[in-house]
Amino acid sequence: MHKGVISMADHFDYTIGLNLAALLVCVTNFIFTLLEGRFKKPQNKIYFTIIFLLCINSVCGIVSDLADKMGDGSESDIMVLRVSRYVYFVTHTMLAPMFFFYISHVVGRLLYTRRDRSNSDRPKWHLIGLLPHTLLGIAMILIMTNPVHHWIWDINNDGTFVRNWGEYTFVYLQSAVWMVASFVLVMRSWNILSVSRKHGMIFSYLLMLTGVLIQLVFREIRVEVLMESLAFTGVLLFIENEDDRRNVELGVYNSASFTLDITAAMKNNKHLKLLILRDIALDKTANPMLPEKIDLLSVNKKVAAQLCETVTPNNIYAPVPNVFIISFYDSEDEKVKRTAEAILERFNFPWDIDGISVFLKASIMVVDVPERAKTMQEILYIASCSVPEDNEKILMEGSDLDWIVRYSAVEKAVQRGLENAAFEVCYQPTYRIDGTLFGAEALVRMNDMELGRVFPDEFIPIAERVGMIDDVDEFVLKEVCRLMHTGQPQKYGVGHINVNLSVQECMKKGFAEHIIKTVDDAGVARKHISFEITESVAATDHDRLAEIIGKLKDAGFTFYIDDFGTGYSNMSSLFSLGADVIKIDKSVLWSAEKSELGMVLLRSTIRMISNMHKRTLAEGVETEKQMETLAELGCDYLQGFYFSKPLQKDDFLEFIKQGIK
Ligand code: C2E
Ligand code: CA
Ligand code: CA
Repeated sequence: MHKGVISMADHFDYTIGLNLAALLVCVTNFIFTLLEGRFKKPQNKIYFTIIFLLCINSVCGIVSDLADKMGDGSESDIMVLRVSRYVYFVTHTMLAPMFFFYISHVVGRLLYTRRDRSNSDRPKWHLIGLLPHTLLGIAMILIMTNPVHHWIWDINNDGTFVRNWGEYTFVYLQSAVWMVASFVLVMRSWNILSVSRKHGMIFSYLLMLTGVLIQLVFREIRVEVLMESLAFTGVLLFIENEDDRRNVELGVYNSASFTLDITAAMKNNKHLKLLILRDIALDKTANPMLPEKIDLLSVNKKVAAQLCETVTPNNIYAPVPNVFIISFYDSEDEKVKRTAEAILERFNFPWDIDGISVFLKASIMVVDVPERAKTMQEILYIASCSVPEDNEKILMEGSDLDWIVRYSAVEKAVQRGLENAAFEVCYQPTYRIDGTLFGAEALVRMNDMELGRVFPDEFIPIAERVGMIDDVDEFVLKEVCRLMHTGQPQKYGVGHINVNLSVQECMKKGFAEHIIKTVDDAGVARKHISFEITESVAATDHDRLAEIIGKLKDAGFTFYIDDFGTGYSNMSSLFSLGADVIKIDKSVLWSAEKSELGMVLLRSTIRMISNMHKRTLAEGVETEKQMETLAELGCDYLQGFYFSKPLQKDDFLEFIKQGIK
């Protein structure tokens, strides 16, 4: 090897060697990305395109070197040279803008757009965005038309390659502008980038810069493409690969990592404890000035950042939305509990979410693996199943979690219930105050092959949460219609049957129309069907509910408000719902027997309702004395075990046929 100077032969080896190396690196990245099938996100697609462009670049470099050094300067050699240079320039010029777009997807923003405050979904363009695009446009036009004017580059008759003014101005300038733009973009997003992304960016910048500098200073060492290929290998390792393991937005491990790590631990028979932080939400009672809407992602980011300060970030996962799981290997119960308490402690203080100070709430479950959960499926179920309404604990461990077994069994039973014909409708008659038969209420039951008979108090809330309540209620309505279509109940004095509705489904689009159609299709007169809806619903979207009730009433159905006297009542809004009958909850009746105050409450409730020109129905009547009291107070209708328990259809028909009170 000659010192200082690179001979012709050496140069040949060098450049070919460098380009070959670049090609090998690129092809490796290319095949790897292809085999991993990583094309989901736009970011992945841009990465793939960049690698592809670099492959073409190195192939062009190799071809032009071969034609240059091995050819004999014939016309065909010059032609090959021209074509390969041409392709090289077109593809290489696109690299810098592609890199910019890659970066902008990684950091999740564009440099030259800004969120329009009035309409946060639509970004506004900065005029400055025109600059790099215009330069790219000019450079591309010049490069593509180069064979005509040769302003960018040329090949002399002897085969030597010359760079012209066009390359030094437009081509370099546009690349430089895009690179600076990407650099500024990275800097502006620096504090939201994960450590790994920072490493990836620094690495790739340094390599690309080194490549350009070497090639500028030692013009013979054409190392640029190789350096770029290596830079993008860094991007592959630090950013693309890391994305598969991490939830980049939250800066913690994702569900794939969770499955991988925990499955491995379970296979190795390790005992571990999982601390599941879940049900993260706005604390409505602690925020008197409720913000309209809160961005759950911002909330999760804040909580994730807080968790990373409290525990080792290596053990934090975000396997399902709005849930964080922290794994502890061979840790003492005390330590896990202390950590849980420390995490919950933070929720006693307000959080700064997008500039608004809000109180959040959350709960923690401490789950032993494999004692409480043996499979991945079980862990994820515990992490995402809904907690019973009566649960008040925010830190649940050991026996606090016993309900989960029953809960998941009931959930499964509900899900298979319709297919297995497990649902059955029972009927409980209602009476006028003079003791004559008035109507009946349809009450659903579930007879599961494993769990036996399950009562609605248990499975209705679960059906609501798993989104099956519509199907259950529709089944009940159809059953009731079928019964009423026979005309039997009417014959024995049952004028109408009440069907319970869940507010959740009422709010759905086209609900009223659907109900009307179902009843009409069954060939049942609308006056034979009534609906009950629970009082607490008044707290939700009142106007919409009033509109739906209005529609059903206009269609000829009667409406009952259920469970009046429980929960918070907003009288005026409740009465404006336009119900015909108010059902006083059994607890109101029962407490009237227990205390003077209870009696005052029952009396004033009945009086108030009749003053509003609505009728009252008291449920839970179990004794003759209760019946007499209600008659004295002027209640209109009665329902309860004193008359009859809910009965299966045939028993119900038999019961009303005999006209037994
Ligand atoms: P609800 O609508 O308030 O129904 C009245 C509940 O009180 C029924 O319980 C009934 O069996 C019970 N009950 C009636 N009279 C007496 C009495 O004198 N003493 C006592 N101790 N209890 C009495 P059930 O059938 O277990 O239903 C519980 C709840 O499940 C219902 O409360 C209702 O909210 C819901 N539910 C029942 N069927 C359906 C349905 O088809 N759809 C929907 N969405 N919810 C339903
Ligand atoms: Ca009811
Ligand atoms: Ca009730």
